[in-house]
Amino acid sequence: MNETIAAIATANGIGSIAIIRLSGEKALSIAKQLTCKENFTPRYATLTNIYNNENELIDEAIVIYFQGPYSFTAEDVVEIQCHGGFIVAQSILRAALKAGARLANAGEFSKRAFLNGRIDLSEAEAIAQLIEAKSEDAAKILASQMKGSLKEFIEQVRDEIIHILAYSEVTIDYAEEDLPQDLVVQIESKLKQLYALLEKTLIASKSREGLMQGFKVAIIGKPNVGKSSLLNALLNYNRAIVSDIAGTTRDTIEEQVRIGTHLIRIVDTAGIRESNDEIERIGIQRSLEAIHESDIVIALFDASRVADAQDKEIVKLIASNKEKKEILVVKNKIDLEEKFDLPGLTFDLALNSKSDVTALVKKLEEIMDRNNVSDEIMLISERQISAVETTMQNIQEAFEPLKDQELEIFSFHLNEAVKAMAGITRPFENDEMLDKMFGSFCLGK
Ligand code: GDP
Ligand code: ZN
Repeated sequence: MNETIAAIATANGIGSIAIIRLSGEKALSIAKQLTCKENFTPRYATLTNIYNNENELIDEAIVIYFQGPYSFTAEDVVEIQCHGGFIVAQSILRAALKAGARLANAGEFSKRAFLNGRIDLSEAEAIAQLIEAKSEDAAKILASQMKGSLKEFIEQVRDEIIHILAYSEVTIDYAEEDLPQDLVVQIESKLKQLYALLEKTLIASKSREGLMQGFKVAIIGKPNVGKSSLLNALLNYNRAIVSDIAGTTRDTIEEQVRIGTHLIRIVDTAGIRESNDEIERIGIQRSLEAIHESDIVIALFDASRVADAQDKEIVKLIASNKEKKEILVVKNKIDLEEKFDLPGLTFDLALNSKSDVTALVKKLEEIMDRNNVSDEIMLISERQISAVETTMQNIQEAFEPLKDQELEIFSFHLNEAVKAMAGITRPFENDEMLDKMFGSFCLGK
């Protein structure tokens, strides 16, 4: 633990500056050795030459010394801001390693910050995800969690369970008999409230995945209704800010488009890129999967053709909408003579996907704004979600024993609930989990 670690903290590539970060007991002495300077005043930026171990000049850089515990890791930290590019930063890093530092593992700075009590796990996770945030919405949530909003929520829930536990235990000790019925009712109602709060948070977190990852949009419809044209139109909309990252997650092609502060990911589950429509089949099963996979569904119909069995299948799909997805029912090709007729089907929009999709973009933005409650608490990782699920399960299992006055079992479950909840911020017992979590951070974090 006393080893001094070093890493390049900035992204690999050409930029105007790069930062090398050191943390540990020897950070200051290594900085002195690299600069031939007598001392550094904590928190002051010092412009100085940097030399390698053969006393050759590497660069002129700014050095900042953060004296522990007033640093990110709570240890002595030195940051060297040098000229960007690969060679300079690498040379300085190599000199630091020769002077006694060891190359940091991925996430090791954050791990030290956690182990030294500077941040908790929910804050660390927020930092890690903030770096990779895909939209302003996501960044907002993460920034507030980095400052501890999730931690507060967790502590509040944990405190309430402990309070209930203490209340019931004190009563048992003093009364030496069963809990009075009105007390049981009171405890029950408190636990129910708590359960409902957790459930609400869990559901909100799961359904707002779009906020963090980008809203997934699926375009469904029978062949030739204009799915590919619509995809292209969306991609061309506001070309300047279209991301050209063609995601290759899983085995589907994915395109990302920025709309306002949001990010949408158009998942090509129905093979909408397929130019040869002979191959392209509507595939009800595939459409179902597309709906299941996405947050927002655009169901396309061709105004210029008479409605047929395939259209009716699509109508059936969107009418059932078991998963309560946001569905936009869109009539396309309105520039052609209208032949489509399906009584009972109302359209949210009518389009000519080859000319103007502004109205559609506006509708999408409305939907995303509506689903964007960024001031709510959100669970941002599988780890956090599963901890809340465990907490809820234990609360659930505490009701029966409470009713049956089996108070030992009751308090066992509430203790488990507290443990699971507290684990979101401070899982003391699990080294392996810590390694796994911090190991997924980028280098230099
Ligand atoms: P997909 O099979 O659903 O992907 O449909 P495509 O996007 O490949 O479009 C099928 C045909 O309809 C192509 O020839 C398009 O140019 C044409 N098309 C698409 N949208 C419109 C529209 O709004 N108006 C007109 N007139 N033609 C369209
Ligand atoms: Zn197509």
